[in-house]
Amino acid sequence: MTVRVRIAPSPTGNLHIGTARTAVFNWLFARHHGGKFILRVEDTDQERSRPEYTENILSGLRWLGLNWDEGPFFQTERLHLYKDAVQKLLDQGLAYRCYTTAEELDALRESQKARGEAPRYDNRHRDLTPEQEATFQAEGRSFVIRFKIDDHREIVWNDLVRGNMVWRGSDLGGDMVIARAASTGIGQPLYNFAVVLDDVDMQITHVIRGEDHIANTAKQILLYEALEADVPEFAHTPLILNQEGRKLSKRDGVTSISDFQKMGFTAPALANYMTLLGWSPPDSTQEIFTLEEAAQQFSFERVNKAGAKFDWAKLDWLNSQYIHHLPVDKVTDLLIPFWSEAGYKFVGGRERPWLEKLVTLIAPSLTRLTDAVAMSQLFFTDGVEFSDEATTQLQKDGVGAALQGVLTGLESQTQLEVADAQGIIKQVVKEQGVKKGLIMRSLRAALTGEMHGPDLMQSWLLLHEIGLDRPRLAKAIDLGS
Ligand code: GLU
Repeated sequence: MTVRVRIAPSPTGNLHIGTARTAVFNWLFARHHGGKFILRVEDTDQERSRPEYTENILSGLRWLGLNWDEGPFFQTERLHLYKDAVQKLLDQGLAYRCYTTAEELDALRESQKARGEAPRYDNRHRDLTPEQEATFQAEGRSFVIRFKIDDHREIVWNDLVRGNMVWRGSDLGGDMVIARAASTGIGQPLYNFAVVLDDVDMQITHVIRGEDHIANTAKQILLYEALEADVPEFAHTPLILNQEGRKLSKRDGVTSISDFQKMGFTAPALANYMTLLGWSPPDSTQEIFTLEEAAQQFSFERVNKAGAKFDWAKLDWLNSQYIHHLPVDKVTDLLIPFWSEAGYKFVGGRERPWLEKLVTLIAPSLTRLTDAVAMSQLFFTDGVEFSDEATTQLQKDGVGAALQGVLTGLESQTQLEVADAQGIIKQVVKEQGVKKGLIMRSLRAALTGEMHGPDLMQSWLLLHEIGLDRPRLAKAIDLGS
């Protein structure tokens, strides 16, 4: 048997972290077994589906490296298949037209509530006579298609994550709607029906999805049987929870993969982190791995039943590890869009070789790519703002003269190397009898406007290359005088 799995996102929003994590598990399982990973876009909800969401989902999956083998297939291109299959169920007497109005359903629900019962459809139109149907149609009622559910049925499956699952037909809310309202013909098929028909048609062997679909699975198994198809294996993966133990939601500030991208996470770090949301490798001390490495070891035996808490500190740590181990040119490629977004211009000597030197300087301090924006601002702005601390430093006795000494020392320099910079400082120490520490602190204040920051010598060399050290020193001397 060739393993065939699928991710089936609905394009009613951007690629959600939960869907992406489900995609990761599907991908790992497919790759582990040398199987196929299929992408199907479940866009039958035409009011809420949007092409830009489809685009966001596809590009998010690609960005994470979750390449698919077949698809994307679109449910809206397959509507005729669902309608034919619904018709077949009608012909076989396994489904029927239900004319119950919204008001009647409301009244039913109210009376059930009053009796303290769970809401369920009472199957009242299951056995309508042709005359009764004709009367409802003459009244102009529209109808949905309902699939008959036997209350006495026991539905059992062995979930690859959750073990033995047992549901009763009577738990499923009465005969289920499989196609929306229409006044003639068959309306839009609903999720539970379309998903089964597609999974049969695409020969899906393992349905791997979030645990919020468990209640659907019982209904879907009955549909597989009605369609006389083999029932696949099911694996329901744990939810992703926030720190308070509730389902991660928009209120947690971020839910979609493109949000994580904008926040400066790298794709391999996020993909790595998602593999750990509910799964752990056999050697649980191993935390950093590629998707391919995880795929070699992946199995549902090591997927937890309990919800997976989202741990920002862990994700940040993983992200920093990836950034720190990437070659400088790669980090530069990753940072350029963030700098551009911040409005920084690559002019005035800020060309690729210079950018790479800047990256060498700041990359070891980056946790998120976005950190580079604040960290490199002083290199992308020609002027300099002195902080209060820096101003105090620059107004200390002897600082103006020392910085003047540095400026004079610079006159004989075209290119500045570390040794030259050190030579200049030594010279000033010797000539003016000031402490080296005072010069270093003053230089930092003058060149960067701050008292703390990246390596001073390297910062100076970078500023020198783009001609910013002299004007900043001059401005600092003015401030002190
Ligand atoms: N379109 C469904 C969703 O996004 C797919 C569920 C499934 O995998 O069956 O939740």
